[in-house]
Amino acid sequence: MIEVRGVNKYFGDHHVLRDIDLDVAAGEVVVIVGPSGSGKSTLCRCLNRLETVSSGEIRIDGRTLPGEGRELARLRAEVGMVFQSFNLFGHRTILDNVALGPIHVGKKDRKQARADALELLERVGIAEQAGKYPAQLSGGQQQRAAIARSLAMRPTVMLFDEPTSALDPEMVSEVLDVMVGLAAEGMTMVVVTHEMGFARRAADRVVFMDEGQIVESDHPDTFFTGARSERARSFLSKVL
Ligand code: ADP
Ligand code: MG
Repeated sequence: MIEVRGVNKYFGDHHVLRDIDLDVAAGEVVVIVGPSGSGKSTLCRCLNRLETVSSGEIRIDGRTLPGEGRELARLRAEVGMVFQSFNLFGHRTILDNVALGPIHVGKKDRKQARADALELLERVGIAEQAGKYPAQLSGGQQQRAAIARSLAMRPTVMLFDEPTSALDPEMVSEVLDVMVGLAAEGMTMVVVTHEMGFARRAADRVVFMDEGQIVESDHPDTFFTGARSERARSFLSKVL
């Protein structure tokens, strides 16, 4: 579903992604871990073309990420992204936040879009919040609304960049539970997180990044018990 081949990314002289090769199969859940500044967010942003790559190639579902235009918009809609900050529209209701993308971008019938949005809010467990505004919800509820908003575009791949890092500890699990549910339903997912419990529970593979490189790529059982590189072992000793 995702093929990354020889990707390099520079910000000026700063070499932020170094020869990245990564394959994510349909239905696979890949968790990316690594120290701050190792390039995890940049890689995610390249995957849905919020950033351009300096060299190399990224294909989503067999199609090379194109440079511009309608084709880019369509491919981007196939790749949903959830960030640490929820980025909901503060002056629109939760239901509107979820329904507006399909109406304006997806050209979906308004009534149908609202019915579908309500169904998605049910799926993430906040249907009763549909008429409220983002500020009236807890952080965990807002992040679940943000996930529903992404799902409303019917993505084939979901990217999560530290989706629980801005949440109070007691709200982390309600968001992770939604993500575990998505994974169980077969969604293809790339998840940057420091939640090692989630990685153990839901990941098919853990990718460890350091200094712009993929250092290890292993099944979680292997990664957590027998990481090969000194860099990965050192990282694990700090987060476990
Ligand atoms: P991570 O998500 O693993 O913490 P990032 O991908 O955010 O790492 O950042 C990797 C490196 O790229 C860091 O050194 C960061 O300072 C740098 N970087 C990220 N975005 C930009 C940008 N827009 N301009 C310049 N440097 C950037
Ligand atoms: Mg980051």
